[in-house]
Amino acid sequence: MDIVQHFIGGSRHDGGGTRRADIFDPTTGAVARQVILGTVADLDSAVKVAKAAFPGWAATTPLARARVMFRFRDLIEQHTNDLASIITSEHGKVLSDAAGEVTRGMEVVEYATGAPEMLKGDFTEQAGRNIDAYSMRQPLGVVAGITPFNFPVMVPLWMAPMALVAGNCFILKPSERDPSASMMLADLLKQAGLPDGVFQVVHGDKEVVDAILHHPDVQAVSFVGSTPIARYIQQTGIGQGKRVQALGGAKNHAVIMPDCDLDKTVDALMGAAYGSAGERCMAISVAVAVGSVADRLVETLAPRVRALRIGSGTDPESEMGPLVTGVHLEKVSGYVDIGIAEGAKLVVDGRGLKLQGYEGGFFIGGTLFDDVTADMRIYKEEIFGPVLAVVRAPDFDTALKLVNDHEFGNGTAIFTRDGDTARAFVHGVQAGMVGVNVPIPVPMAFHSFGGWKSSLFGDHHMHGPEGLRFFTKLKTVTSRWPTGIRAGAEFVMPTLG
Ligand code: NAD
Repeated sequence: MDIVQHFIGGSRHDGGGTRRADIFDPTTGAVARQVILGTVADLDSAVKVAKAAFPGWAATTPLARARVMFRFRDLIEQHTNDLASIITSEHGKVLSDAAGEVTRGMEVVEYATGAPEMLKGDFTEQAGRNIDAYSMRQPLGVVAGITPFNFPVMVPLWMAPMALVAGNCFILKPSERDPSASMMLADLLKQAGLPDGVFQVVHGDKEVVDAILHHPDVQAVSFVGSTPIARYIQQTGIGQGKRVQALGGAKNHAVIMPDCDLDKTVDALMGAAYGSAGERCMAISVAVAVGSVADRLVETLAPRVRALRIGSGTDPESEMGPLVTGVHLEKVSGYVDIGIAEGAKLVVDGRGLKLQGYEGGFFIGGTLFDDVTADMRIYKEEIFGPVLAVVRAPDFDTALKLVNDHEFGNGTAIFTRDGDTARAFVHGVQAGMVGVNVPIPVPMAFHSFGGWKSSLFGDHHMHGPEGLRFFTKLKTVTSRWPTGIRAGAEFVMPTLG
């Protein structure tokens, strides 16, 4: 049985942990390999190595650090297919989607190559009479990232490039469900010339997470995952005096106006609700159909959902692969049961899907509910599967209020041809990322990614300018020089003022 080890000090180690977690092939349901679950001592070893590596790495120039990122970027591009294969084998998403994830992660590496520009600082000449003032951003030291299963390459790359170019040493604790891709990232960073100990991977579960949160030498924690854990990470980390950004779950609404281009909107909804089997934090899980569009929307969507091509992620014909684990499959199917019991109208039922040759796989078909209401659990809670809920709203204001009253505020989108309606939506909606006729408005690497309300705890969004701020601390210098040698020799005691 293959074992996924830690990556500490530039090489693979078993560490001291005796516990192992199974990693499944979601297509067949078989255990493919295991990952070592680390201990407090393993995390402590990695922190010690990082702390020792930090002064040397922080002393390199921003240009030297950017050059590592240039090489890393090229290596990611060369190995896109390898990374995508690893993602598909453990996560289940289709290969083309996995390759897209790698590209979106690589874009943050590309942004990070601009470190010399980003770290230039500000300078005010003559801030006071004969006084200059300047600000600079300095690295924090040893920082950590804790990541979810759904983007095993992209989410670590939201964090690590920004932390590294700023001069920090970064420890990654990936999801124990699909941890192998992070090992390839570690190998590629080493090949790119990153010194040993500057990027490390410690695998594990709550034990390692708690060790990170309580280690006095970890200065900052960047987290992405579900809301209950995000809240716990932020509260515990802050209690330990750390800087924390913790991104949580989502329930992203698309508001469908009666004047939208229905065919294009349905295309967009299909990809956004069912792509990656709905296991995306920016997936659309609620379609708010406004006024007369509702019947047409459901009639157009239903046959498309029934016709979804579901299969192995490695089959180029597949549009949707399996869910990540059997436990998650049970949870998603359970929500469909709950929706029926709550009185929602099940238009397409994906439960119980068995694919020939993959009978043990974690497959579920696309599922569509109509007549969902705001008091139902299937509306309020994140399902994180290929389940789209249609809620009917009489007008725009009711639709906007629905989005704004929801607990989560990650992403949202509006489909309309009317600029005035779109503008009112953009202006008034309570969410961190907004799409206008764009279903999954994931910001590009040079902007920052993050939601509002229970979708993000902390002050900083990920990557882009906010990412650099998160991984650096600001120092501002005010300097005045006493009369110097240009005035010639002085024989009296110098005084200021
Ligand atoms: P998760 O919260 O179960 O796990 C995330 C990380 O936390 C993993 O590394 C895991 O090992 C660790 N963890 C799990 N339970 C823990 C505990 N009790 N104590 C300490 N650490 C613990 O999330 P997941 O299922 O891997 O990922 C899916 C979730 O992530 C969804 O809710 C999704 O919306 C969210 N997500 C959010 C974003 C975003 O940008 N807001 C992006 C991707 C995923």
